[in-house]
Amino acid sequence: MQSNRTLMVLPGDGVGPEVIKETLRVVDWFAKNKSISFNIKEGLVGGASFDKYGTPLSDETLSDAVDADAILFGAVGSPKYDGVEFEKRPENGLLRLRKEMDLFANLRPAMVFPALVDASSLKPNIISGLDILILRELTGGIYFAEPRGIEEIDTQIKKGYDTNLYTTPEIERIGRVAFDMARARNGKVTSVEKANVMMSGVLWREVITSLHKKEGSDILINHMYADNCAMQLVRDPKQFDVIVTDNLFGDILSDCAAMLTGSLGMLPSASLGSVDQNTGKRHAMYEPVHGSAPDIAGKELANPLAELLSLSMLFRYSFEMKEEADLIDEAVSRALDAGPRTQDIMASGRVKVGTKGMMDSVINKLEELTK
Ligand code: NAD
Repeated sequence: MQSNRTLMVLPGDGVGPEVIKETLRVVDWFAKNKSISFNIKEGLVGGASFDKYGTPLSDETLSDAVDADAILFGAVGSPKYDGVEFEKRPENGLLRLRKEMDLFANLRPAMVFPALVDASSLKPNIISGLDILILRELTGGIYFAEPRGIEEIDTQIKKGYDTNLYTTPEIERIGRVAFDMARARNGKVTSVEKANVMMSGVLWREVITSLHKKEGSDILINHMYADNCAMQLVRDPKQFDVIVTDNLFGDILSDCAAMLTGSLGMLPSASLGSVDQNTGKRHAMYEPVHGSAPDIAGKELANPLAELLSLSMLFRYSFEMKEEADLIDEAVSRALDAGPRTQDIMASGRVKVGTKGMMDSVINKLEELTK
């Protein structure tokens, strides 16, 4: 069955094309074994696009990305472009995609696979079985709001200041994403701010509370101060399902949650826009947290699992394919349990494999699970 959904694939630079190539084998596996396929469009981004078109993102590729139902992104960047003018650097291709599609919601799951429990700095009983999602507002708040600046008070003293500002619609739209995410997971949202000391936090809590009454009565909600949340994340992270928070607190809490889980080669992410009122579609881009890893590019050393787990998120959150996403996650988990591993997650007694070998192992587990 050919689905009418379009999947835009942007491999980019460095290890990006290597991990995308392996991840597309799993897309092929679903086509062959589950008769689920998509219209796949591939495009150039980053240095690869600069080499061909003289820009890190051509208007044509941007237009294809805007039209697609979801984007699977690899990584961009290379020291080769260090001398290139700022706007034409590979990273600007990614920034332009985020800006043009207004991808305001950043999702970072923190999921601990049983076989990697020892890679965390926390005790196994605290993090084993962990599966939480941090949802960070990405385009508003203290990193963007005015007034901000550094000014002289007098010849001796300067002042530096920022403004944490959120409007009702900005809070509502991230709140809606949180409820949608919770519906695809375990139905619980923790909204995080500092309503005890910040006016933007008072408004945040008011708006989320009223949105929950209007649109989220099927969701279990609680509210937590950001400092307490930081403490709870390392004390008892399994109490959470979805955490929704602003740009500043999300920046800090998502890094904290990511480190609960271990390696960079294992971390997926997603950036989402709002639902288009006319088409009902939501812009969404899925990518590993890691970059183009120039130090290992071309050496068959990259771990492809962060990219594959990004595909699993894409299935779960953009294509409503929860069962298939669960299947990928379980296959990854089983592959890690006993199989070979790439160098970044290598452990004693395991066979070391490259990018392809790691994906072979996951595909074997997909076969086993669906026999
Ligand atoms: P990086 O994430 O590319 O690499 C950091 C370290 O992690 C390196 O030692 C690398 O070998 C290792 N690593 C990364 N991905 C891995 C994988 N899949 N498997 C095994 N090991 C992996 O970060 P960096 O070195 O700071 O940046 C390199 C380039 O990537 C820069 O040009 C930077 O701008 C770009 N970058 C792009 C993105 C993106 O495209 N979203 C994100 C971060 C950095």
